[in-house]
Amino acid sequence: MDNKFLKIRNDFPILNQKVNNEPLVYLDNAATSQKPQAVLDEMVRYYQNDNANTHRSVHTLGERATEEYEAARGKVQKFINAKESREVIFTKGTTDSLNLVAATYGEENVSAGDEIVVSYMEHHSNLIPWQQLALRKHATLKYIELTADGQLDMADAEQKITVKTKIVAIAHASNVLGVTNDIQKLAQMAHLHNAVIVADGAQAVPHQPVDVQNLDVDFYAFSGHKMLAPMGIGVLYGKSDLLKAMSPYQYGGEMIDFVEKYQSTWTDIPWKFEAGTQNVAGAIGLGKAIDYLTEIGMQNIAEYEKHLVEYALPKLLEIPGVTVYGPQNQINRNAVISFNLKNLHPHDLATALDMDGVAVRAGHHCAQPLMKYLNVVATARASFYIYNTVEDIDQLIYAIKDAKEFFKV
Ligand code: PMP
Repeated sequence: MDNKFLKIRNDFPILNQKVNNEPLVYLDNAATSQKPQAVLDEMVRYYQNDNANTHRSVHTLGERATEEYEAARGKVQKFINAKESREVIFTKGTTDSLNLVAATYGEENVSAGDEIVVSYMEHHSNLIPWQQLALRKHATLKYIELTADGQLDMADAEQKITVKTKIVAIAHASNVLGVTNDIQKLAQMAHLHNAVIVADGAQAVPHQPVDVQNLDVDFYAFSGHKMLAPMGIGVLYGKSDLLKAMSPYQYGGEMIDFVEKYQSTWTDIPWKFEAGTQNVAGAIGLGKAIDYLTEIGMQNIAEYEKHLVEYALPKLLEIPGVTVYGPQNQINRNAVISFNLKNLHPHDLATALDMDGVAVRAGHHCAQPLMKYLNVVATARASFYIYNTVEDIDQLIYAIKDAKEFFKV
């Protein structure tokens, strides 16, 4: 399997460079992934040949642009197994998708005394929209606890999700703890009480097969830039009945049916939620990224990344002074490993690793309540993707040992 994945690396020109005189080892994929040449070429091709505004013009370029944009929607539909393509709304990214749900569905369905259930492992983008909605509505925000090894406590979830719950908003995969949550089970719990479930798929869709019908999620959000596509394009999946009943998020061009002097009516889903000129090249780039990932196979990707984690985790844990957050074995772990080195601030560690060509993230990872829960101010984080290799991990381990020596910790 390694061989096939080794070849993949050649498709990513950015990886072929030195940083601080060392070959670049890019391990910040949870923040954003790199883009294969095929995606870059596709976007240039679109701008060189077909660029026009969509859904507005009968001229040839306008029709081509519209056709390609809608074809990209169809690719997303197939990729996540949505029942209908109109259940796929293009957004700016996960943050935009989640804000859309909070501002429309949330605004219209949450009242004083209702409850919104999140977890301690949420990224701020799946937390603050709900926190602010709860404040506006005088609703209560409840947090599902984590188990000692950093997994979602499903027994606590069962306690927290009640008849008072209107929305359950949970990450499909954590950007810090390296765990994938049982969204299907959580959806059952939510639906038992007539609540909806919103899943944040930002760290799941790039790394594992996702089937929204099988998960039975009501809403599902993800970003293109973490899955080989450009920044500024993302997806909100929503069940069509829910989307149809929701008010628009933004008002303006192309989301209307009729506009009169004092009132207006809205066009059908998904366009009702796509006001104004859209990121057409981004959507087409996302479509190409989906082609690329599908060609490799999402199950193969999940297995390859598991193999990288299996290789990396024991090596990290062997280094004296290293603490890994989340489960200490690779079972149920995805390609994110957050860690700290005793007596060294993660920012200093990340800076030292960069000197050896290794790019990792250091900080609170947009998860401040989780940092508090873990009783740390910040962590370093190595996150892998399809173009990473065991040699990259060897270089990470070497660089950590190098930092230990340099800082004498
Ligand atoms: N949720 C999770 C779990 C994430 O990892 C991220 C990105 N760090 C987001 C949401 C937000 O994604 P974006 O910045 O692309 O909107």
